[in-house]
Amino acid sequence: MLIISNYHYIRPSFNSEFPSIYGLTPKEFENQLIKLRNLGEFISPQDLLTNFEDVLQRKEAFFLVTFDDGLKEQIFYALPILEQLKIPAIFFPNSINHKENKVSTVHKIHLLRSVMSSQDFLIRLSLEQSGLTEKEKERAKEVYIYDDKDSAILKFILNYKLNYHQQEKIIAPIFNLFFDENEKKEELYMTEAHLKELASKGYLGSHTHSHYPLGLLEPDVVLTELQVSKSYFEKLTNKSINFLAYPYGTEEVCTAEVAELAKKAGYEIGLTTKRGMNTIHENPLLLKRFDCNDLPGGKSYRDLKNEIFN
Ligand SMILES: [Zn+2]
Repeated sequence: MLIISNYHYIRPSFNSEFPSIYGLTPKEFENQLIKLRNLGEFISPQDLLTNFEDVLQRKEAFFLVTFDDGLKEQIFYALPILEQLKIPAIFFPNSINHKENKVSTVHKIHLLRSVMSSQDFLIRLSLEQSGLTEKEKERAKEVYIYDDKDSAILKFILNYKLNYHQQEKIIAPIFNLFFDENEKKEELYMTEAHLKELASKGYLGSHTHSHYPLGLLEPDVVLTELQVSKSYFEKLTNKSINFLAYPYGTEEVCTAEVAELAKKAGYEIGLTTKRGMNTIHENPLLLKRFDCNDLPGGKSYRDLKNEIFN
């Protein structure tokens, strides 16, 4: 079986005035890898590609370590630990950060939320919670059970009420009031040299061009998102890019049609964020993947223990 563990932010401290960025410290990351090592074997992207059917059919656990969003801190804090423990991994950046020198809207939102309260953010958006119906407010609470009321409503408005064009248009001017896009881009994302280094180890995949929720877009836009990033990374690194991680990765964005388009664009493996292990009969373009918190050593592992290793 194949168990995929996914990481985003890895940094020594997550302190900010308004906590909005969550992840693992390098120590927590290392501890988790050591725990997983006792439960199975780590597999490299290349070995997985070559032995796909066999790995899925085997009784033993094979772990694939993955990182989304192409963050520089993954190179600074996670890569040295991986090298020291001789554990392979794969990293999924977006090409928009390099090709267009932009900060992805999803990260603009994370950064803005770290400098203002959800209530202030709602006011800035000029989208007050009164714009939601009572039913929508209830739904917001159900979807974001770990958030306070204002945060749940803010997230619900951003993610469910606005499409990505509206989101981009609304967020960009607010972001520019607080941050310098170029500076943040340099600070947040890997450099092209990092991407080349990862590709030379066989550690580079694509997280599409712009980090859009693919399943909600027109097929031609989806195909462009998939192709542009693939060819950008391939030209840059001179390596073929066969792995894809779908942004957000939920069921509504990873449809069968999106998987077909990914295949058409030339990808061989596609990773969702649908929780679960991969055994026989998986569509290689719709593999399941755990958030690192759901696996041994993670913050929510206790609740899932029986589901994963029984
Ligand atoms: Zn992402």
